[in-house]
Amino acid sequence: MPPTTTDERLADYETRYRELAAELATIGLIHSGSVTHRYTRCQTPGCKCHADPPQLHGPYYQWTAKTNGKTVTRRLNENEAELYQEWIANDRRLRQLIQQMRQIAAKAAELKLKQAASP
Ligand SMILES: [Zn+2]
Repeated sequence: MPPTTTDERLADYETRYRELAAELATIGLIHSGSVTHRYTRCQTPGCKCHADPPQLHGPYYQWTAKTNGKTVTRRLNENEAELYQEWIANDRRLRQLIQQMRQIAAKAAELKLKQAASP
């Protein structure tokens, strides 16, 4: 049954809010930016990257982020790329959780303010 009274609804929001906060606490390291990988051709004539079909060099991993309006990049090896990808995914999840918490908090706040306005 869906909660009907204001107190029940508030308790519901509270529970959901605490669950999100608990998940927030389990998130590992976070990092900004994004990781891309690309394949390239070299300048060496007769290299396999110029063959038909071409076997391109790579993948080459790169981390990119904007810091103070400037784009910063860093070349990564595969292990580093894996770490960055994990941290960036954590960062995304963190922002999702905070957004959900904000939404629930806004609904709960509205109910509480209504209660406070008519004691
Ligand atoms: Zn080549």
